[in-house]
Amino acid sequence: MPGGTTVQTPNGPFTLARGCDGCTLCCKVLAAPPLDKPMGQWCVHCVRDTGCGIHATRPPVCRNFHCYWLIDGALGEEWRPGTAHIVLSLDLDGRRLNANADPDYPDAWRREPYYAQLKAWAAQALPQNGQVVAYLGNEVFVILPDRHVALGLMGDDDYIFIEHLPGGGWDARKVNAKEADALRQAGRVS
Ligand code: SF4
Ligand code: SF4
Repeated sequence: MPGGTTVQTPNGPFTLARGCDGCTLCCKVLAAPPLDKPMGQWCVHCVRDTGCGIHATRPPVCRNFHCYWLIDGALGEEWRPGTAHIVLSLDLDGRRLNANADPDYPDAWRREPYYAQLKAWAAQALPQNGQVVAYLGNEVFVILPDRHVALGLMGDDDYIFIEHLPGGGWDARKVNAKEADALRQAGRVS
């Protein structure tokens, strides 16, 4: 998809800052459930370094995906997905920044300058009820301003809970649906 393309999003039309320019990394790193394509494996329809082999009929999960590299023209060249070995994306209506690492580069998000930038983004996001989360497949690492917390594998019934500690600083843990409900009812963020 070329830069300058206007795409439809749940929040209305949006003009992409950049194009994929031959990148196909999300077709490896991310899952595409309608195609039974798991995380971390190349999609059988991907034409490497070119694009989607079924572009016209690709499923909505692919059609509607635009990584953060395409959206934010201010990101430095180091964040090009093929250079970083990381696919950045937003979800939770923009509240969560996801950093999915290429499984061939499992420590990509822990290398510099990426780790420092992810922590800096977490410092900005957390006070506004945002999150920054790194992934290696289904393994989840919550990024905090001064460190990360490994939450292990997340199931469908697991949620990320991040709290501001009374003495200052932040912590994160995995909670189940029942705990998440109780935390929501108590007015705490999960
Ligand atoms: S990771 Fe981003 S730039 Fe690369 S193919 Fe996917 S949407 Fe395009
Ligand atoms: S269908 Fe196309 S866009 Fe979707 S994962 Fe496969 S190659 Fe990528």
